[in-house]
Amino acid sequence: MSHDSYRALYIHIPFCVSRCNYCDFTTQALDSASPVIDEYVEQLVLQIRKKAKEGELSKIDTVYIGGGTPSYIGSSRLSMLLYTLSLSLRLEPDVECSMEANPESIDERLIRDIWALGVNRLSIGVQSFDDDVLAILGRAHSGLDAQRAIEYAQERLDNISVDLIAGIPGQSVESFAKSVQKAIDLGVKHISVYPLTIEPHTPFYKQVMRGELPEVDEDDQARHMEIAEKLLVEQGFERYEVASYAKPGYVCKHNCAYWTGLPYLGLGRSAATMTQNASRRMRIQDGQVTDDLNKAQMYAEDIMLRMRMSAGVADTLVAQAADELPQIYEVLASLEDRGFIEHTDNAWRPTELGWLCGNELYGDIFDLAP
Ligand code: SF4
Repeated sequence: MSHDSYRALYIHIPFCVSRCNYCDFTTQALDSASPVIDEYVEQLVLQIRKKAKEGELSKIDTVYIGGGTPSYIGSSRLSMLLYTLSLSLRLEPDVECSMEANPESIDERLIRDIWALGVNRLSIGVQSFDDDVLAILGRAHSGLDAQRAIEYAQERLDNISVDLIAGIPGQSVESFAKSVQKAIDLGVKHISVYPLTIEPHTPFYKQVMRGELPEVDEDDQARHMEIAEKLLVEQGFERYEVASYAKPGYVCKHNCAYWTGLPYLGLGRSAATMTQNASRRMRIQDGQVTDDLNKAQMYAEDIMLRMRMSAGVADTLVAQAADELPQIYEVLASLEDRGFIEHTDNAWRPTELGWLCGNELYGDIFDLAP
């Protein structure tokens, strides 16, 4: 189908030093010297060049190299990838170029090389600064490694994000709060706080099944999320999305592209591509169509995704959607009655309760166009 220009580019690096106990991402633990990684990166280079030749990269505003652990593949492979990107699209300072990295594979040389080749935002998978909690998660780094990695990164990069996990069995409120405070004290500009989910086929899942690990306690998790919000907002962060906090000027543009319905191109194993025009939206992963939405479903999805963000859904978008979703005002009124959303400044915005009861909030909107 003829489609709108892609605005965001995602590149997936599916390799890690070892597999964490909670992980269900597409990744594999492989020796970093493995020729499999060289071959994979070379294939990515060819794909980037091909897409550039086809004109698919001309409107890209954000690039995100995610994983897996991109930093694990090392400076020389990353340099090849970033050099190809710099020749294939407009990789200028106004284009956000994020890369994910884990503390155990960050050093001064890596930071210098990726900075020189255009990475201007680093997202570091810290998860916790508490060594006991890191051991439960099966992470390959200590709290001190995480602190050092942030400090190395700060020598070249200003825009640093840290991921933390909330509600881990065995993680006390104090431990979680200390990790949040540590990230703030280190001066990072963006913090994502994800509640732990225990996914099937992970070591955590098996431990829960065998009774060796307690299940996630939803009340603990909610308490952790409340603590994060309190600490972060008090110290100048804005909660602009259910799990994301940023200092002014440091919102992640790439993630906002996903939540505001901008088309994106994914390259690499299991990377999703979202292609759309005015009446149809498709998601494609590894050559398979995983979603094929009509116009009504596109509107429902746009409204649902925007409810993740504190900016919410503008009245103008609701008015446009009403032609395709005749029940929309009724559903919004019902969500407001239940305290999940509120109407302020010409937009419908999620409340704290709405985010806590996300399944109900998003589910009711999704059901407008099943
Ligand atoms: S580092 Fe991330 S992607 Fe790699 S195994 Fe751990 S959780 Fe999974």
